Amino acid sequence: MKIRKMAWYRWLLLLIGLWPGLTLEAQALPNSINSKWESLLEEIVNINSGTGNAVGLDRVRSILIHEFEALGYTTSLINAGDQNKVLSFDFPTAQPEILFVGHLDTVFEKENPFQSFTKIGTTISGPGVIDMKGGIILMLNLLAAESLDHRSKVRIVLNDDEETGSTHSRAILRQQAVKIKYGLVFEPGLGDGSVVTEHSGVRWLKLNVYGRAAHAGLEPEKGINACLEASYKIAKISALSEPERGLTVNVGTIEGGAKPNIVCDQASLTIDIRYRKLADLTEVLAQIETIRSHSSVFNYLLNEGTKSTIESLAELPGMPIESTYELFELAKQSASAVGIEITGRGVGYASDGNNLSETGIQLLVGVGPYGGGMHTNKEFMLTQSYAERLAWLLELTNNILTKGAKQNEK
Ligand SMILES: [Zn+2]
Repeated sequence: MKIRKMAWYRWLLLLIGLWPGLTLEAQALPNSINSKWESLLEEIVNINSGTGNAVGLDRVRSILIHEFEALGYTTSLINAGDQNKVLSFDFPTAQPEILFVGHLDTVFEKENPFQSFTKIGTTISGPGVIDMKGGIILMLNLLAAESLDHRSKVRIVLNDDEETGSTHSRAILRQQAVKIKYGLVFEPGLGDGSVVTEHSGVRWLKLNVYGRAAHAGLEPEKGINACLEASYKIAKISALSEPERGLTVNVGTIEGGAKPNIVCDQASLTIDIRYRKLADLTEVLAQIETIRSHSSVFNYLLNEGTKSTIESLAELPGMPIESTYELFELAKQSASAVGIEITGRGVGYASDGNNLSETGIQLLVGVGPYGGGMHTNKEFMLTQSYAERLAWLLELTNNILTKGAKQNEK
């Protein structure tokens, strides 16, 4: 029932063609970051921590360990293999009820010219300033707030390979989520301040097509053209997209053939499928299987067509809307209590929300401060968004933890 109500709301917004962003009641909130937290943000933004930069990541980690321990947390540093590490902070005596999730790595390598923090008016630019060093500073700021009750019931987990798919840290993240009901992923909010309430699942496939080589001028009739077959298959596979349902099928790469004067005997395609519902994936995979097994290029002299195989290259489960519904309802209530309207929407890209949703935890992704230019040399944060997020998340965290505390008393 709840899901149906959500769908109605989303459809209505879609129909009228707008996703309202955050609207603030006039001047209800301060328009800046407290100088202590801003300095700490500047310090960690100025340290390169591109995925794989073990030295930079260690430097950022040691600064954060110091800050979290100053708040009473105990540090666990978990080896994730291949120099990757997951940081986890807990109060050893308390059962955590909320998981704060973040990543220390950025997409910016050491050689990138974009390396430093710059503040102009109410805009701060810098590598990772929203994705997601700003989110990590927001976590600390929130946990240090005097008005936060039950800080001990928050567990914080920070990985360092998110930007390359969390392949090393994924299993550890899932272990850290066990027995915790709610999880906030401090990725930046979307451009209009919306949070992410649904992530598509992703599947990558490789389709190999085999034909028969022959001299293109001397005896082309003895050839079976795999490149031509691949082109028919591309057209059919691409037609499976239904973006209005959040289902996209993209042929991203094509390779094939050896020389212009040889009938092409081998071609391959890679395919990216993004889906909201598992049933959609199942259906598309069945349709691709039909396309694979049928040969459109057929040599009647040889009584032979092309042959094709499919291999799976990668897969990532989705974060379905069922994984966020309950927390999103609480989030909206808490936002309105501090004079903010919060909206949510589904996106086609992935985050650690995808990796965590199968654990059954209720999630919300994109609760961090926002701005724009993510993953580019123009990444920036609007300081107003930081103040909004702080007020809202303080209210939300208190609501969840106070409710949990009351239930425990009963
Ligand atoms: Zn991120």
